[in-house]
Amino acid sequence: MQRTGLPLCMSYYPKEGNPLWGKYSTEVVAHTIKTYSKFTIPYEYPVAISVHGPVGGMEYPMICFNGGRPEKDGTYSADRKYGMISVIIHEVGHNFFPMIVNSDERQWTWMDEGLNTFCQYLTEQEWERNYPSRRGEPRNMVDYMRTDKSLQTPIMTNSESVLQFGNNAYGKPATALNILRETVMGRELFDYAFKTYATRWAYKHPQPADFFRTMEDASAVDLDWFWRGWFYTTDRCDLALDAVKTYKPNTRNPGLESARLQNERQAQVPSLSTQRNATDLKTTAVDEKPDLKDFYNNYDPLAVTEADKQRYFQYLSTLTPQQQQRLNGNLNFYELSLRNVGGLVMPVIIQMTYEDGSQELTTIPAEIWRKNNEQVSKIIITPKNVVSFV
Ligand SMILES: [Zn+2]
Repeated sequence: MQRTGLPLCMSYYPKEGNPLWGKYSTEVVAHTIKTYSKFTIPYEYPVAISVHGPVGGMEYPMICFNGGRPEKDGTYSADRKYGMISVIIHEVGHNFFPMIVNSDERQWTWMDEGLNTFCQYLTEQEWERNYPSRRGEPRNMVDYMRTDKSLQTPIMTNSESVLQFGNNAYGKPATALNILRETVMGRELFDYAFKTYATRWAYKHPQPADFFRTMEDASAVDLDWFWRGWFYTTDRCDLALDAVKTYKPNTRNPGLESARLQNERQAQVPSLSTQRNATDLKTTAVDEKPDLKDFYNNYDPLAVTEADKQRYFQYLSTLTPQQQQRLNGNLNFYELSLRNVGGLVMPVIIQMTYEDGSQELTTIPAEIWRKNNEQVSKIIITPKNVVSFV
């Protein structure tokens, strides 16, 4: 189906809907069509209509029915205003999922409600800065995802068996896709892959695997771990930083390292036997017959020899200037022990606070968990001293 020209956006409402409906409804319909077309595919139906009626919200191809009526005196609360705008975006958005990208909503509610709620979030945020979106932000899913697992079902659950419909099929997939876009893939790659899915499956009947596969092959990113955690389990995101160990690199410089080892040796407390023998044992066999002594009785293995220095210079000559700098650059090495408490495999976002008060955010990609999804460690190297990792 190819149509030229723009669709006509319209609203039908009784005068009791004013001033909200006259001011916002048609503007919101047009904004929705534009924004969804940008993230998915161009809207090819001739019209898009929002009708005000005594309902929450219900979608049909090209027409939808939405609530959100002001008080009798024409005033309205912020909740009423944003609730009305959101429901119009949502119901008009259904033209794309599942009307155009025609997934089976009886089997997989998330494929239309979840993807639509995600696009609704994008559209709300493009309507107005700091729009009070009810769904889409990760923080809004925390309370649900940490509830008892017996009260949850994976997103990949047949529609008839879904528990907590709104959180499971609307909110969680919207948050999952938001995290995939902002933290895992990045906007450019995600948007390209998501648009490829809509283009490839418009006017066809995609199954969940078609969505998963298209997001992966359009972006060339292996996301199996993401689908598995977010869509096939009820695991939650809870990562613990159990311990931090500090290291300094071994410079192999005999001048420096030998002094360090000698200090360590000196700091060692002698064993009980050694302490008691120092007083209890008057002489040893070697004391009695000094002839038994040889080179090793006076040799200090930690003393620096000419050969040690030669070996060190030899070693330095094999290093690039950059490696030499790293060796002697007074760098701090921190080994972070990380534990996956909640089960969900996720990137690890760490905030470091330095001694000078400055802060830095670093993201460790989720692939760090690929060989062990319960416990891993990560080395962070920095010239500045870190006072806290969060
Ligand atoms: Zn819906």
